[in-house]
Amino acid sequence: MKTIGLIGGMSWESTAEYYRLLNEFTRERLGGLHSARCVLYSVDFAEIEQMQVQGRWAEAAEILAGAARSLEAAGAELMLICTNTMHKVADAVEAAVSIPLLHLADATADAVRASGLSRVGLLGTAFTMEQDFYRGRLEAGGLHVSIPDSEQRTVVHRIIYDELCLGVVKDESRDAYRKVMEDLVATGAEGIILGCTEIELLIGPADSPVPVFPTARLHAAAAVDTALSD
Ligand code: GLU
Repeated sequence: MKTIGLIGGMSWESTAEYYRLLNEFTRERLGGLHSARCVLYSVDFAEIEQMQVQGRWAEAAEILAGAARSLEAAGAELMLICTNTMHKVADAVEAAVSIPLLHLADATADAVRASGLSRVGLLGTAFTMEQDFYRGRLEAGGLHVSIPDSEQRTVVHRIIYDELCLGVVKDESRDAYRKVMEDLVATGAEGIILGCTEIELLIGPADSPVPVFPTARLHAAAAVDTALSD
């Protein structure tokens, strides 16, 4: 079993899920008392969030690259960035170490393709929905990606930072997300990517008329596959 390195804390609410999922998937595969070999470097999200808002991506990249170096030094043999948004600096993180980065958009695109779908709606932070670093990678993986309109993107983004990253889960926010997903389906989406690792704390398969793709779960599953492969 390879040791999985996690760059987490963005937010810790979803990193805690990653930890649980890695261990559950490892126990399912190996049975008994087996659990995931892993190392976690958890940042202070308040600092990172300020850098996002102010567009200080190079500084954020340095922090995450430093975390990656620490994980490698601690024995990690593969690495996950436990947030979709911070894949904006994935290239810099990858370049800082010699261990492989398991890219969240690749794990997600693989899962969508394996389900036989190609037209998907994408929910996430404004950075993830509007910029190319994530959507472009999904599209390079063969998917057609649509996003909510501007007003709905504002709602989706606000609920992530003001509620989910603080561990607040509200029925009215779930209803708002359901409406956004219905509208994406009405314009042709055959599946919905929950492209922010906290969204799966709010939304499950029963909330959507089409299959959902929960990125933290898919990422953790892909990591365990890789960790247990030869
Ligand atoms: N965890 C979130 C994501 O998957 C959002 C928090 C962040 O900005 O990193 O995008």
